[in-house]
Amino acid sequence: MNLHEYQARDILRRHGISVPDGDVAATAEEARAIAQRLGGRVVVKAQVHAGGRGKAGGVKLAGSPDEAAAAARAILGMHIKGLVVARVLVVPAAEIASESYVGMIVDRVSQRPVLMVSPAGGVDIEEVAARTPERIFRLAIDPRYGLLPHQALGLGFRLYRDAAQARAAADVMLKLAVAFTAVGASLIEINPLAATPAGTVVALDAKIAVDDNELERRPDIAALRDLSAEDPAEVAARAAGLSFIKLEGNVGCCVNGAGLAMATMDLVQFYGGAPANFLDIGGSSNPQKVVAALKIITADPSVRAVLINIFGGITRCDDVATGIVQATQAFPLAVPIVIRLTGTNEREGLAILERAGFSAVTDMDDAVRRAVALAQGGAA
Ligand code: GDP
Ligand code: MN
Repeated sequence: MNLHEYQARDILRRHGISVPDGDVAATAEEARAIAQRLGGRVVVKAQVHAGGRGKAGGVKLAGSPDEAAAAARAILGMHIKGLVVARVLVVPAAEIASESYVGMIVDRVSQRPVLMVSPAGGVDIEEVAARTPERIFRLAIDPRYGLLPHQALGLGFRLYRDAAQARAAADVMLKLAVAFTAVGASLIEINPLAATPAGTVVALDAKIAVDDNELERRPDIAALRDLSAEDPAEVAARAAGLSFIKLEGNVGCCVNGAGLAMATMDLVQFYGGAPANFLDIGGSSNPQKVVAALKIITADPSVRAVLINIFGGITRCDDVATGIVQATQAFPLAVPIVIRLTGTNEREGLAILERAGFSAVTDMDDAVRRAVALAQGGAA
């Protein structure tokens, strides 16, 4: 789950990291009032779950309350990476002498949280990582001890030569590491951590992604979820109890079990196609889940063929077949569908499908080959 910058800032502040004052506005007039209260120059920032807002025009400097209102008017309603901006954050503009990067992720390779810092922070950090990776410094953190003060100070000196600034940056890192664990983050990032001309160090941006598996025991964090800012298909999938991830291809996949879903995607690729999604209806056998899955898959305009791949175990083929029939009665399919059903109650399932005018196959290779051909506009 992604948090908005204004939510992430609150969390950082609660952990003792100093972040500038500021407030959230949903209208230009609200933005004007906040700018008036803050006095002087402000920055108006789009609140969406996307990086690169600065480059997309979603971060604007304003010299007066009028300019802040105009900036808010320009940013509200803007699309950034497919997401509509519904709110802006208005903060006092800081003078920036230099921009650093400080972030933490869960690293699968070292199986540890890894702290990453770079003196080359700012909007081009991806380019720094790609072109000059030696300018990014990493430290895997031993979960038994957490980040230790001497380690943080060592990294602080990678960012600043000045001892006071290095110490200030180290202090931010130590608090960031505590926040990381406290909220169950998979990613936490301050970019830029800015040095001001006066020599202070201040967090000018904040990003936190929380591991969904950590939410159940953190209701206060779970309550920060902003459904209106998320992809509607993923929201619908979560509500229906489906595991769903949107992908780039055109073969819509509806599968039971994560392992079979992965194998199905591999096979789609193997036969020259590309999956439009990962979708696992789970191990239970509930026709409603199939209906919900087909609704989500067919709502995606890039889907050219639907592939249903069911290996019945606990999941019963007759229940899935009932779900398919119900779904296609509720919303007629505009694209061809290929059904592979095998396992528990296979015969009953095939009979239900045949009565409704569908045919199904039992061989997975066969089904995937057909679906790929249909998605490419050929015959099955
Ligand atoms: P992002 O592009 O989504 O990461 O948004 P950021 O909040 O990081 O803003 C992008 C860039 O805008 C920063 O890297 C800064 O260069 C600039 N910026 C953000 N806040 C301020 C500010 O208070 N003062 C100044 N001068 N520049 C700022
Ligand atoms: Mn940033």
